[in-house]
Amino acid sequence: MATPDFTTYMKQLHTQLQKYFPSSDIWTPADDAIYKTIDLYRVPLKEAKEMQLKSIKHTFTYQYNNNKFYQNFCKERNFSPTDIHTNDDLEKIPLIPETFYKDYPTGRDFATWLGNIFTGPLPRIVIPQKNPTYDEVINAFNQAGMAVAYSSGTSGRHTFIPRDQRTYYTSEFAAAKSVISMVYPLWDPSLYGYLLMPNPKKTNVYAGKVCTIYFDAIQDVQVAIDREITTELIQMTMTNQKGIKSSIVKLAAKRQSKKMIDDIIRWLESHEKNTHKIAIVGAPFILSFVMKKLEKEGRAFDFGERGGIATGGGWKAYEGVRVPVVEFRKQVEKILGIPEKFCVDLYGMVEGNGWLTHCPEGHYLHAPYNYYKPLVLDKENKPIGYREWGRYAFLDAAAFSYPGFLMSGDQVRMLEHCPVCDRPGPVLEPEIKRVTGAEIRGCAEEIRRMLSADLGKD
Ligand SMILES: [Zn+2]
Repeated sequence: MATPDFTTYMKQLHTQLQKYFPSSDIWTPADDAIYKTIDLYRVPLKEAKEMQLKSIKHTFTYQYNNNKFYQNFCKERNFSPTDIHTNDDLEKIPLIPETFYKDYPTGRDFATWLGNIFTGPLPRIVIPQKNPTYDEVINAFNQAGMAVAYSSGTSGRHTFIPRDQRTYYTSEFAAAKSVISMVYPLWDPSLYGYLLMPNPKKTNVYAGKVCTIYFDAIQDVQVAIDREITTELIQMTMTNQKGIKSSIVKLAAKRQSKKMIDDIIRWLESHEKNTHKIAIVGAPFILSFVMKKLEKEGRAFDFGERGGIATGGGWKAYEGVRVPVVEFRKQVEKILGIPEKFCVDLYGMVEGNGWLTHCPEGHYLHAPYNYYKPLVLDKENKPIGYREWGRYAFLDAAAFSYPGFLMSGDQVRMLEHCPVCDRPGPVLEPEIKRVTGAEIRGCAEEIRRMLSADLGKD
C-alpha cells in the first residue's frame, strides 16, 4: 500500500475518530483550533496567535461567567474578560496553583467540593453510601455521565479533575492527534497495539483513562495492567502503609508485574514473525523493564519502521534513578530495532488538555499553540522570557468543565523555536524537573510504585 500524504493521513484519522467531534451546538473557537486544523504543530504563527487569543478568551469568559469560585478568584485579582484585548493580556489571566486541586475534604463533602470546582450545570448525581470513599464519589459522578479522573503525589495525595464527557473527548482526541501527527506515516487503523497502562475501563487514573481512544484509533489493543486500580490501592502501594491488607496487595502486585513483563515479551515474539505494524503506548518504565530483561538474556528484536513507541507520564524508572530520554530512545533502537524518530514522548498532566509532543527530528516538546498557551514563571510567578528556567504554567482553552489556567510544580525551559525541526511554534526542552521541594508526581510514577519496587531490584 502506498504511503498517503500527510493531509490524507490526518483526514483518515479524523474519519476514524468521528465520534470524538463535538456537536455544532456546543462548538467553540477551541474546537476550530483542535478539530479543523490538519497539523496542530505547523499552524503559521500569525494565524495561530489569532486562534489562541480567540479560543482562550472565549473559554476564560465562559469559566468566569459559569464558575463562582473562579470568578471570585479573578475578582480578588481585579481581572475580568473585558481586560483581554491582545495575546499579551492572556498572560494576566489569574493562574490557579496546582495544590488547589489537591486540597479536598473527605466523604460527602468531597462530592460538594468536586461540584464546586465543576463549571456549568451538574448532572443529577446519586451517592447511595452514607460515608462514601473517594472512588465511590467518583464512580457516582461518572455513572451520571462525567469523566472525573485523578493523578497523585507520592504521599498518596491526589489531584482530582472533574471533566465532563465533552472535555474528556476533546482531551483524548487532542492527545491521539498530537502523537499520530508526529509519527507520520506510522499510524493506520490496522495497527496492533500494546497499552502499558491500567485498563482505561477499570481505572480513573487519568494517564490510563485518556488512552481509551487508543481502542478506537486502532483495531487490536492488549493491556498491560488489567486489574481495577483504585485510590485505596494506590494509597497502599504508594505509601509505606503497614498491615495485612497492604502486604497482600504488594505481594500480588509483585507477581502480576513479573507476569506482565513476560506477556509483553511474548507479544513482541508473536509480532516478530509476521509483518504487522505495532505501536506501544504508555508508561516508559514498563518498557524499560522489558528491555532490561531482554538485554540480560542477550536478545533483541528488529521491528524497524513498522514499530513505534509513544510514552507519557514521567521518566523515573525506579527509585532514585532517572532514565534520560536520550538513553531510553537508544535502548529502544538497540533492543527493539525501532528507529528513534518513531519513539516519542508526550508531556501533559491530569489538569490539562494540551499535549506537548516530541518532534521526530529533534525530540523537543512542541506545544499545540493555537489553543493552549505554555508559560514559564519566575519566583514571583510572573512570566519570564525564553531560555530561562522557571515554573511551568499553561492556559488551556480546551478545559470546558473546570478552569484550566494553572501553575504546575514542574521546572522547564522554553525556546521560541525548535533548534532542530522547522515547525513554527514554541518548544520545551525535553528534560522536565520538579520544582525543588515539590513532591515527585506524575501518573507513571504512581503506577510504577504500585507495581512495587521489586522489579527495579532485578
Ligand atoms: Zn522540533
